[in-house]
Amino acid sequence: MIYLDANATEPLRPEARDAAFKAMEQHGNPSSVHQAGRAARKILEEARERVALFAKADPADVIFCGGATEANALAIHALGSNRPILIGATEHEAIRAATPGFITIPVHADGGVDLEALEQLLIAYPNALVCLMAANNETGVLHNIEIVGKLCKGAGALLHVDAAQAIGRCNQDWLGLGAASFALSGHKFGGPPGAGALVTRPGLEIRALIKGGGQELGRRGGTQALPAIAGMAAALALPYPAETISAWRDEIEASCISQGAVVAGVGAPRLPNTTCVALPGIRAETQVIALDMVGICVSSGSACSSGKVSSSHVLSAMGFGKLAGQAIRISLPWNIQADAIREFQSAYAAMALRALRSSVQSA
Ligand code: PLP
Repeated sequence: MIYLDANATEPLRPEARDAAFKAMEQHGNPSSVHQAGRAARKILEEARERVALFAKADPADVIFCGGATEANALAIHALGSNRPILIGATEHEAIRAATPGFITIPVHADGGVDLEALEQLLIAYPNALVCLMAANNETGVLHNIEIVGKLCKGAGALLHVDAAQAIGRCNQDWLGLGAASFALSGHKFGGPPGAGALVTRPGLEIRALIKGGGQELGRRGGTQALPAIAGMAAALALPYPAETISAWRDEIEASCISQGAVVAGVGAPRLPNTTCVALPGIRAETQVIALDMVGICVSSGSACSSGKVSSSHVLSAMGFGKLAGQAIRISLPWNIQADAIREFQSAYAAMALRALRSSVQSA
């Protein structure tokens, strides 16, 4: 099997697996006062310190939860209740579904946020909560959080950054750039699934979305998933071969273009590992199945929405029209090998040739 769907889930990093196994052997509950509980609490607090160090935050402002979907929902619940909510047109469903009645910030054809439109919206809604992803899950396009942070600060608005896809591949000091909070998800950067965090700047009041036994200083009820959290913290800030990966991504992209494909987000800064390519005339699902039949895993749209036949709202917002339903996402994992790139290239070429032949026959 050749796995080219890292944006759905990155393969587990060995460091994360070791830390998770070690934590799994610790059967205490971090909220218990006895020694087993204290041992579990020590692992939890060490993980919190690692996340805080990475985020340049106070450990008290790291709230562990189940993943980025939950972290985003918590931020919106806590920070957006009395504010208009502005979200980027290409945000993930985790943000869209948590913000009924949201106001859309348009993007340019290359997927980058329209900063002039945002400026205008901030004049109309100066007390907004702005939710913007650091990196898009389908196209890899990076938003300019530095400028967006300044615009929000100037207007008096709050900024929440969904950093789920950027972390590990393209780290930034999101709080330093002006975000009030950001969301992360362990399995998107080589940790085990089931852990994430909301990190906030100091002094923000975070009302719990999930109430319970007072865990996470009363901001997220429920026993913490210690093995997943320990694994996530171990996966943070590991070296990432960005240059090698982006060179291979570019090779893949060039060979898709030579087969007639159209690439989304070309010209915009992008994640090193992601390309989103539309092959005119062939539905995305057909391409995903054709590649799967020769052992290659890619996706159409985001993994969370695969299974739906609707076309990508991300590509539609970028003006892709009909091509929005004909694009697949190829996202290289951290441990990709050169022979996987070659195999993908020949499988893609064979798929494009078959499509060409069948369109000639049916013409
Ligand atoms: N935000 C973005 C940009 C994502 O790509 C995803 C998952 O694909 C999420 C949020 C949700 O993450 P999780 O499924 O880990 O909760």
